[in-house]
Amino acid sequence: MSSVCCDQAPSKTLKNLDEAIAELQATATQTNSHSKENAPKTLRIPLSQALNHVLATDIYSKINVPPADNSAVDGYALKIEDYVPGQNIPISQRIPAGQAPLAIEAKTVARIFTGAHIPQGANCVVMQENVTLNDDGSKICISEDLKLGQNIRPMGQDIKSGECILSKGSIITPQRLGLIASIGIPELTVFKPLKIAILSTGNELIEPGYAVKEGQIYNSNRYLLSGFLQSLNFEILDLGVIPDNLEQTLSALKKAASEADVVISTGGASVGEEDYIQSAIKALGKVDFWKVAIKPGKPVMLGNINNTPILGLPGNPGAVFVTFMILARPFLLHKQGLENTSPKPFKLPINFEIKKAGVRREFLRVIRNQDNVLELHSNQSSGMLSSASWADGLAVIMENTAPKRGDFVSFIPFGDLLNINN
Ligand code: AMP
Ligand code: MG
Repeated sequence: MSSVCCDQAPSKTLKNLDEAIAELQATATQTNSHSKENAPKTLRIPLSQALNHVLATDIYSKINVPPADNSAVDGYALKIEDYVPGQNIPISQRIPAGQAPLAIEAKTVARIFTGAHIPQGANCVVMQENVTLNDDGSKICISEDLKLGQNIRPMGQDIKSGECILSKGSIITPQRLGLIASIGIPELTVFKPLKIAILSTGNELIEPGYAVKEGQIYNSNRYLLSGFLQSLNFEILDLGVIPDNLEQTLSALKKAASEADVVISTGGASVGEEDYIQSAIKALGKVDFWKVAIKPGKPVMLGNINNTPILGLPGNPGAVFVTFMILARPFLLHKQGLENTSPKPFKLPINFEIKKAGVRREFLRVIRNQDNVLELHSNQSSGMLSSASWADGLAVIMENTAPKRGDFVSFIPFGDLLNINN
């Protein structure tokens, strides 16, 4: 991989992407602990509604799972010391799952079914496939060598009483719902989903369903953002479209900052005559950073109004797509109380080449093909969403590098960026 430096923009004016991510993480922590009012609120909810919420407490088990030694198969339980190879052994009891067994009678076997508790005194289970029943079905002859403890799932094999099964800051996934149910807990304390205000700026925007007039375009960012936020389980305060003027931008941001935990705007983030986000944030609060070395998405901005973080994303939908996943997503999840929000990129070769190294870290919309090679969409314009809809992940081209065909670069599958995972 060659390492050439050639600038389209002076890198001095751009904030390094890792620093921007770190500053966002610090902001999430600070605004959560700044005051009681800002601290994440908690909720008690039934297990059946807890999917995708973040645990606000550690969860300890008061029981063993399984609660007792039980059979892993349908078969016959016995005490191994009572077994004499080649001899028929009488069946003394029948133990279906859910029934309390009697202690095993000496020199007998108990008919047992999967999940049924092992009778006291028995120490191995023979699969029914490995025995022959006599004519009246009262005795069995075993056709295998027995091992102590075979086909027995021991008490506490899954969870031991007193064990911490999940810690605060874990996301509730389907498998964790099952795990919590397995220790008999019906309700959880979780962090209340943050309320995220979204606003789309632009006089040119019109909603789907209306006819576009000359100069207008449909508002796609509103749906893109609310889709992201819904899939991450946030509450949405949708303030709709804000026209390009200072007065309306001020009043929308003021309302958003007072009612929501975080505000995300799209568009108007540059300093053109029609861009009002930055001047409105400055008038009401503070801009913490503006312009990050990320492609697409350079004009992204972080500010705050009375300690409510404001993320000013660019207007171009392709840039909103990337900056949301790379900057906003980890920030929001961290603020929601998740401990670990990082995607897990892995290295794959590319079947294209980067002609010129850039000063910004570039996120390319790619697919991983059947040979585990990354293929590039031919149009990486920050204005388009069709490449984002075609792709299944992002290839990361680091600053000041120009990888050639066959070089390995980091690949982040959308599965890591569109879901919560932790
Ligand atoms: P801006 O940053 O406001 O200059 O916007 C940059 C580009 O993104 C312009 O071409 C806008 O028309 C477009 N854009 C801004 N907001 C949206 C939106 N909500 N949906 C679709 N395109 C948008
Ligand atoms: Mg605009």
